[in-house]
Amino acid sequence: TEELLRKSDKLSVVGQLAAAVAHEIRNPLTALKGFIQLLYGGLDGKGQYYQIMLSELSRIETIISELLVLAKPQAVVFEEKNIHYLLSHVVTLLESQANLQNVQIFRSFGAYNPILKGEENQLKQVFINVMKNAIEAMPRGGRLIIETTLEQDKYIGVRFKDSGEGIPKERLANLGEPFYTTKEKGTGLGLMISYKIIKEHNGMIEIKSEEGKGTTVEVLFPVVQTVEV
Ligand code: ADP
Ligand code: MG
Repeated sequence: TEELLRKSDKLSVVGQLAAAVAHEIRNPLTALKGFIQLLYGGLDGKGQYYQIMLSELSRIETIISELLVLAKPQAVVFEEKNIHYLLSHVVTLLESQANLQNVQIFRSFGAYNPILKGEENQLKQVFINVMKNAIEAMPRGGRLIIETTLEQDKYIGVRFKDSGEGIPKERLANLGEPFYTTKEKGTGLGLMISYKIIKEHNGMIEIKSEEGKGTTVEVLFPVVQTVEV
């Protein structure tokens, strides 16, 4: 936990810089893309080069927009949110991707509604990032179990257990570092953004993994109350 805390303290400075750079890059990028599209088709037989340029530009755009999430939004509104409801909503969003990959998603929630104070879109962003990683770790199918438990009536613990490829022990320390990715099309920003959001919600995150067996990501948030279903 200490290591995670230390890492997230650095995020504010890195995040502000990243957001500023991202913002500055966006405009010239849009111009470049427009002109490449204009030229596209103008030269015989060179079409594939334009395609490559456009797809590389799209990749830069993806990275830039993920970095921009790091910028503090102007007005973050923390409201009381039912975390089971948010989790279920994100499951619905990711179900088709999971189905395509033969991944089954199971929910194990208690018969109560844990309410926490948070920003809905940011919380969803965390759940999307973590669940996507789980699904991507199971290219040949598997199961993702989402389990919640109340901890000392003060915290809601959400565990995302996948049966995926797992993470080598010596790589666990790299999680959450900017641009750390093992995926061909990855950005290595998902966990970093999630750590930042979790920190802003006074939460905690812990990742345990066994190579070849699977990974469990546990996120803890303070609850303001629980409501009977
Ligand atoms: P990205 O998904 O773009 O690679 P992330 O920050 O979301 O970036 O994740 C960083 C890396 O952490 C991934 O590339 C992967 O190696 C590892 N990782 C994260 N979650 C899992 C998981 N559930 N199972 C296996 N590896 C994972
Ligand atoms: Mg990811």
